[in-house]
Amino acid sequence: MSHIVNGAKAGLETIGSEPIVIRTECREQTVALGRRIGTRLTRGAIVCLDGDLGAGKTALTAGLAEGIGCRGPVSSPTFTLLVEHDAGPDGLPLYHFDVYRLSGEDDFLDLGFDEYLSGDGVCVIEWSSRIRPVLPTDCLQIELTLSDPARPDERIITVRWPGQASWLREIAREEREGKPC
Ligand code: ADP
Ligand code: MG
Repeated sequence: MSHIVNGAKAGLETIGSEPIVIRTECREQTVALGRRIGTRLTRGAIVCLDGDLGAGKTALTAGLAEGIGCRGPVSSPTFTLLVEHDAGPDGLPLYHFDVYRLSGEDDFLDLGFDEYLSGDGVCVIEWSSRIRPVLPTDCLQIELTLSDPARPDERIITVRWPGQASWLREIAREEREGKPC
């Protein structure tokens, strides 16, 4: 089971919205968290993922895709910049970006990618901080970190969504209770 970490103890910035902080101990727990979050996402949602290489952004996206109900499988779009996944029978399409290779938001705009942000599906953007100026403020923001070199499979995952505090509390409660997802 994953663990809820006390936000204040973790020394997190909470201005604007109270984040939830979850510790996972293996890839599957991170996928499961993504699945739990994904089932709640609706058309037009934008998920910003940040964290170093190997932090688990793509793993979390695999879970989001399952929860959203789009057609997988999810793999890293590092070289293609964008992978489009069609909607499953009752799901939404997923637009999975990895903007690591872009020099900034101008590249994103030049490629016409901003059209997806107001599109018919869910956008997930790995390395979103690189194009922050073109993203709306009310995105779901998820940051993944490898906090302890002695625990290579541990990730601290901070989830923040301005204006959606009750939604986040519900996710935290489900994680705490180990509710299947
Ligand atoms: P990123 O997209 O951030 O570069 P990936 O999801 O591609 O990262 O890779 C994460 C790697 O870390 C995978 O090899 C995965 O098996 C491993 N891993 C180990 N522990 C975890 C964890 N708790 N959560 C997510 N991935 C983990
Ligand atoms: Mg990745």
